[in-house]
Amino acid sequence: YKADQFARGEAMNIVLLGPPGAGKGTQAKILEDRRGIKQLSTGDMLRAAIAEGSDLGKRAKAVMDRGELVSDDVVVGIIAQRLDRPDVTRGFILDGFPRNTAQAEALDKMLRKKDLKVDRVIEIKVEDEALIARIAGRYSCARCGAAYHDQFAPPRKPGICDNCGSTQFVRRPDDNPAVVRDRLK
Ligand code: ADP
Repeated sequence: YKADQFARGEAMNIVLLGPPGAGKGTQAKILEDRRGIKQLSTGDMLRAAIAEGSDLGKRAKAVMDRGELVSDDVVVGIIAQRLDRPDVTRGFILDGFPRNTAQAEALDKMLRKKDLKVDRVIEIKVEDEALIARIAGRYSCARCGAAYHDQFAPPRKPGICDNCGSTQFVRRPDDNPAVVRDRLK
């Protein structure tokens, strides 16, 4: 019984579905802290590749800035590699993947091969107007990644990260109202 499995703190593999700004990343971080279940966000991994300046990052950047989807091969490859690392044995939370039927089928296939399975799929629903308001004001700590919002969730002391004390923050280039509408589509 899944609720017991969770209550006992056993490994659990979760897929989080929901539009941009729904709170997938926020919820995944909570589960990570409390349970040691690893958040695997394809968006975060792609942004890390861009920051590193890798070939993959260079190819992904223009597509991501337009709010379009990176090719299935790229994200399927990233997830397949990531699931082979030892830190997912307490479980994993897929955040932002799969995003279409082809990716879902590729996920099924790779999990079967690795003898893994999905225990729960959770969908978070939020209305478009609320999402746009959330995304337009959101930013995060450049050092630890903690999420903030200009109105809804500012740091306790202005300009200082509650979590790590950093004073550097970043905003995603695709978090602007025009691109957000395309991402929601
Ligand atoms: P959001 O869900 O808030 O739009 P993400 O961080 O999940 O943001 O993704 C940012 C961008 O990364 C997407 O707009 C897309 O270009 C790319 N991306 C992330 N995950 C996938 C995926 N599974 N398939 C294709 N592209 C993806």
